[in-house]
Amino acid sequence: MSGTSHPPNIVVVVLDCVRADALALGSRTLSGMPFLRRFRSQCVAFERAVAPAPWTLPSHASLFTGAYPWEHRAHARGGNWLDSRTPRLAGKMRALGYQTLSFSANDLVSPITNLVDGFQSAYWGGWWELLLRTGRRSRAPKRYRQPEGLEPLLRLRRSEGARKVLKGFSKAAWANTAYLDLGSRIAQRVLAPQSHGPCHVAPWVVPEFSRAVARVPASKPLFGFVNLLDAHEPYYPNPGALHGLTEWGWYLTSRQDKQGWLSLEYVPNEKDLVRLRALYEQAVRSMDFSLGSIVHALQKSGRWENTLFVLTADHGQAFGEHGLLYHGLHVAEPLLRVPLLVRFPGSEGHGERVPQWSSLVDLEPTLLEAAGGPEMARGPGVPLSELRRGRARPRQVLAASEGSTRAFGNAPMAAVSRERFDRVRTAAYYGPIKLQFDAVSEKIQAFDVLQDPGETRDIWGMQRGRVLDLEDPLRRAAAMMSVREGSLDSRARSVEERLTRWGYD
Ligand SMILES: [Zn+2]
Repeated sequence: MSGTSHPPNIVVVVLDCVRADALALGSRTLSGMPFLRRFRSQCVAFERAVAPAPWTLPSHASLFTGAYPWEHRAHARGGNWLDSRTPRLAGKMRALGYQTLSFSANDLVSPITNLVDGFQSAYWGGWWELLLRTGRRSRAPKRYRQPEGLEPLLRLRRSEGARKVLKGFSKAAWANTAYLDLGSRIAQRVLAPQSHGPCHVAPWVVPEFSRAVARVPASKPLFGFVNLLDAHEPYYPNPGALHGLTEWGWYLTSRQDKQGWLSLEYVPNEKDLVRLRALYEQAVRSMDFSLGSIVHALQKSGRWENTLFVLTADHGQAFGEHGLLYHGLHVAEPLLRVPLLVRFPGSEGHGERVPQWSSLVDLEPTLLEAAGGPEMARGPGVPLSELRRGRARPRQVLAASEGSTRAFGNAPMAAVSRERFDRVRTAAYYGPIKLQFDAVSEKIQAFDVLQDPGETRDIWGMQRGRVLDLEDPLRRAAAMMSVREGSLDSRARSVEERLTRWGYD
């Protein structure tokens, strides 16, 4: 905490899908992000941060609750949403006198999944915004204010007819990203003929955030959550980023077929992967301006000095490593390792680097501690302030994924239901060692991820005796993760539709 008696404002920004190495010092991506490069020096960098799961829902649920996926059960084998009885950060912040606001480009951080319970206002994106990107829209398509309840549009979207129409459109869209790109460009020109700026997924997030921050009474501390989704597939180059026929040619012929990959019909070749990675890096860089604008809004409102600002990601993104594409399904390093930068009030500890393992489950105790919340029974997380002081973690950092034992085949994606997510994997980090456990084959692997970040050399045989205490939590987590929830209700089906439209998120 800073020396002031006022509780700090707390703002958490999640860059969806941004892997740790994209924002690491000296990376190609960071070098194209002038704001973040400067901003990084005001932060404490937690250099070994791990996401508890490789996709949006369980990972955000862990961030908001301080619990692991097998504890909060908001994952594909659990309820697919966060149980409303589970206490979460926003509600606790609200009880401490905070104004709680959520702005998410990702529609999984919405009332559909209960993730925004406890926020006084929540704004979230439409799924179509991932496809139809513009630089224009400044109002959120969806918002929710307690206690008004679910908006009529949301109810309509849950109807059978609406689901069928959306599913058809989404399938066509997925197969034709180049056409959609063209559509976005035409829409951009029609809506904003003067604008040649970058297109964004849900460009309303920053303007809504800025307006809302200005509206919060100065006497009230603010807890703001923001999710930016630009680095999520499918990838479009921004207007002006492609030069000449050759670049256009490779972009238009690059295949971004996630459903094809899931059904084993499409295996991206080296060239495809290089192109996808280049488009991804460009998408990550395009968020630099949004980050700068979020900080600017806090400065303009006079809150910045006393703001604790967290910049992180909910999971990474893979481009061919271990045969993986995009995210979900696995606990490999490109999916679990995320950036974690914390700017403490008054830039305390600026430029510091913390080499201990940390996790998104550490954020809940960290932020409650900063807000002056009462000491509560501890979950698995550790306040980051303790890691900064060099205190050893009492327990290992863990993570889990719900994979699949089968290819999805030619079944329509809507038919891919939770029972297909039957290959639970867990991971544990301790010292330089990462253990991976596959609950189906019961195989354990060990990697020295500091020496061998590509996880190419399994050293389980050599390490077995030394890391026995890691094995137990791994197996326990896998057993808890594998328990299947009861039958699906309509909400679970609706979330599932949303997930399967994209394969998973
Ligand atoms: Zn995500």
